[in-house]
Amino acid sequence: MSPSKSESKSNRPASITGGCLCGSIRYTINFSQDTKWPPESATCQCTMCRKWTSSLLAPFIVVRPSQLTPYPFTKFLTYTEYESSRNRFRGFCTKCGSSLIWRSDDQKETLDLFLGTVDEKWLVQEKDVGKDLATPNQFQFWCENAIEGVTDVVRGGRKFLKEEDEGGERELK
Ligand SMILES: [Zn+2]
Ligand SMILES: [Zn+2]
Repeated sequence: MSPSKSESKSNRPASITGGCLCGSIRYTINFSQDTKWPPESATCQCTMCRKWTSSLLAPFIVVRPSQLTPYPFTKFLTYTEYESSRNRFRGFCTKCGSSLIWRSDDQKETLDLFLGTVDEKWLVQEKDVGKDLATPNQFQFWCENAIEGVTDVVRGGRKFLKEEDEGGERELK
């Protein structure tokens, strides 16, 4: 399949790589032409994401399991999952503590991959790729927990006080 004119100008890499801090877990995310570029991306400031990532704001991208090599991560000896809510699993490295993925057993088509584990080659050295990945293009969740002037300055996506699908939540501008 040859890329279209607009796609030829895209920053789309064929794939990007990442892994945990100690290197026990390494992955490749495939971005062939039949996948979304940039991938859907969001941030979350909910208390669970904060505790789990030990960061005030957690950015992640949404990918299909079939884009990941290898998958599932259970093939890595140091990978384990914590069930933070019913059927919601947070996968991390038991050796170094890196927070890698959030996934749901109720919706297996996609999973959230936490951006801090993507290699600096893609986040920093390939500047355009890093910006595409790190700019939330879908949502910013749990803005009611925002720290004024600090975690509310990230631009992009629609901002919600809580989740977009929990009902009754007010969408922020
Ligand atoms: Zn590790
Ligand atoms: Zn969260």
